[in-house]
Amino acid sequence: MAKNKKKSTTKKNQKEKITFPADLLAPIGKFLVEEEKKILKKIKNLKTEDPFTDPDRASNNASPDTDAEEQFGHMKNRAIQKQLQKRLIQVRKALTRVKIGNYGSCEKCGQLIDTDRLMIYPEATTCLDCLKKEEKRKK
Ligand SMILES: [Zn+2]
Repeated sequence: MAKNKKKSTTKKNQKEKITFPADLLAPIGKFLVEEEKKILKKIKNLKTEDPFTDPDRASNNASPDTDAEEQFGHMKNRAIQKQLQKRLIQVRKALTRVKIGNYGSCEKCGQLIDTDRLMIYPEATTCLDCLKKEEKRKK
């Protein structure tokens, strides 16, 4: 009995909603929650380590040597904090996507993000192609 299979004539323009299987999403969500906690803790630590957090610092600092050292420490501290803040935003974005169920699809083009990429970078919200385009634009 020949089942009349429609071959390539089936139109592919009806977009299937691509979703990650729940058994994959659960550990990813858990990982992201942990990441969020870790990042928040790191930021908190950095803030307390920052020599500039003392609001009176500018007025009571006499030695130019300490000042330079503090300046450097502050810059480095700020740079790391900035990186972490960026990452935190990414992690939270990814978490939201886990919750609303569109985790793993690119926020720019809607394509499924390469799972290899997600393995290394679970907070990714764009596919590699879009990321490359974005980076090109920045240059
Ligand atoms: Zn994309």
